[in-house]
Amino acid sequence: MKTSVILHGLHNEFSIEQMKSCIALAEKYGESFRHVVTGIQITGIEKEDKELLIAELPDGVVPVIHRGVNSLIACVGKGHCKNGQMDTSELADYIEQHHYGRKTSHKCKIGVSGCGRNCPDSMVKDIAFIGTSQGFMLAVGGNTGMRPEAGTILARNLTINQSKKAADILINWYAENGEPRERMGKLLLRLGNPLEDIEL
Ligand code: SF4
Repeated sequence: MKTSVILHGLHNEFSIEQMKSCIALAEKYGESFRHVVTGIQITGIEKEDKELLIAELPDGVVPVIHRGVNSLIACVGKGHCKNGQMDTSELADYIEQHHYGRKTSHKCKIGVSGCGRNCPDSMVKDIAFIGTSQGFMLAVGGNTGMRPEAGTILARNLTINQSKKAADILINWYAENGEPRERMGKLLLRLGNPLEDIEL
């Protein structure tokens, strides 16, 4: 049976050069591309070729891990979309550099939306930053699993720097306290809000 690999680029953005390299790898080792929630999947790979393909990935493109901070999606945000209320790239870049790929007890998906239209489906991510005219709204614990639910709103009107600090606290807290296969929403129910009493 053939296998596949899911690829992540900078908060789900791939440069043209990266895509050209990925297309060449798909032609060499695979059959087709699929868009999936965590990134771009190359399908139809012979099992023995998977590690060869991964070794040839272009700089900045990595295979998606199963358990950990494995999905980070930002929309284009303010300045690139007429609806954008907040810039998304500074916050998403920061989370990418500091947290993407970290091991956690289960999946940790993060969405950064420039406005409430929520093109990255942020409200069903473990951590959601959603731009408003007053700053970012932060919601935690969303998921699309067997019992899909939207995240719980923990903070509003955050600046970009406050959002970076909140992301650090939440991801560190999850990495340190999550029990095997426990998603962030369940941890929130078990331990309560880690941002309570913290001045961001
Ligand atoms: S979420 Fe808002 S800002 Fe982002 S792409 Fe969609 S409409 Fe534009």
